Amino acid sequence: MRTPSVYSTWIDLAMPIIDFHTHLDERWLNQPLPNEREFLDTLDRFEIEAACIFTLQGFYGDCRRHNEALAERSCRHPDRLIPFATVDPKLGDAAVQELEGCLANPHFRGVKFHPWLQAFAPSMVKPTMIELVRCAARHRAPVLFHDGTPPYSTSFQIADMARWVPEAKIVLGHAGLSDYIVPAAELVRDIPNLFACVCGPRAGWVNYLVRTAGADKVLFGSDFGFTDWTILAEFLDNVRAADLDPMALEQVVYRNAVRLLNLHERPLSTAAA
Ligand SMILES: [Zn+2]
Repeated sequence: MRTPSVYSTWIDLAMPIIDFHTHLDERWLNQPLPNEREFLDTLDRFEIEAACIFTLQGFYGDCRRHNEALAERSCRHPDRLIPFATVDPKLGDAAVQELEGCLANPHFRGVKFHPWLQAFAPSMVKPTMIELVRCAARHRAPVLFHDGTPPYSTSFQIADMARWVPEAKIVLGHAGLSDYIVPAAELVRDIPNLFACVCGPRAGWVNYLVRTAGADKVLFGSDFGFTDWTILAEFLDNVRAADLDPMALEQVVYRNAVRLLNLHERPLSTAAA
């Protein structure tokens, strides 16, 4: 049971924040999720400048419809919502074509895979996976993977893709989540094109990840949209309580996201053109 005290010190980091891991979808199985208005109100409440948005139900099938829905939402709010496309690597060339089509749309800035829910081990679909990640790299789009859970999504399995395609930017979507945080930190430290999104690890682990992997390799994310606003409050608290120096904190909550999303070269407002 969460207690109010966890959220009593409302986040005032006095710096811009980009949430690198959220879901904006109608439902997850039978569970309705925060709608677009509630989602944006929550970003306002916590002073989140923009959020990378992923599907949730689309991991089970019909990627195209869910990609289109994400693009439409981003069209309505191009400065706030940054859609990441997803495709099913088990579909081979059709998946590569779908991803090419999505990334030709300037609203899409990244790619999300969830090997567990999408039911693939990266090694099972290695040739397609390499093509997909190369496609993302050509479009300079980071590729964020769910990680931290066996059998398909251990941090080791996700790190392999950073080795397979060194020109890509691969993000461990949960920085090891819980069981894999120590190896995740070491993998991110040792593999130049591998990054970690601290979406799950508690404050002490956030500090450990930054100390081990470097402040330039760690990004803030909350999984907001998967549940209500409380998860965003809680995960922001994890970062705020991690006792990072101000420069490292700004890298984690903002500057690294700006770099990976190429926002200096291509600000979000240009996607509306
Ligand atoms: Zn998620």
